[in-house]
Amino acid sequence: MPNTKNRSTSMRKVKRRVPSGESREYYSRRSGAGAAHCAVCKGALKAVQSTGPKSSRRPERKFGGVLCHKCQKIVVVEASRVKEKAKSMDDVDIIYRKYVEGIVK
Ligand SMILES: [Zn+2]
Repeated sequence: MPNTKNRSTSMRKVKRRVPSGESREYYSRRSGAGAAHCAVCKGALKAVQSTGPKSSRRPERKFGGVLCHKCQKIVVVEASRVKEKAKSMDDVDIIYRKYVEGIVK
């Protein structure tokens, strides 16, 4: 039975096999949610918090809380080009295609 302090669900349990061949359990505290990052460029999303009402947790624009403002701008421009048939979906950079499809549909 683990120590009382290690029975909480906030403790992460990892089984490791030690060189002698037996397996031991190691406990470490789960860290909280990390900072939000852009899904495309992995840059930090600055205006995203985890507390408060949903509307104040992330920007209320399209892809707010998912893409940074730079990647969001590229997606919107590419989507309008696809809509106006100045560009086909195959010409859109593959990393943005998923998000452009979300607007064009
Ligand atoms: Zn980005």
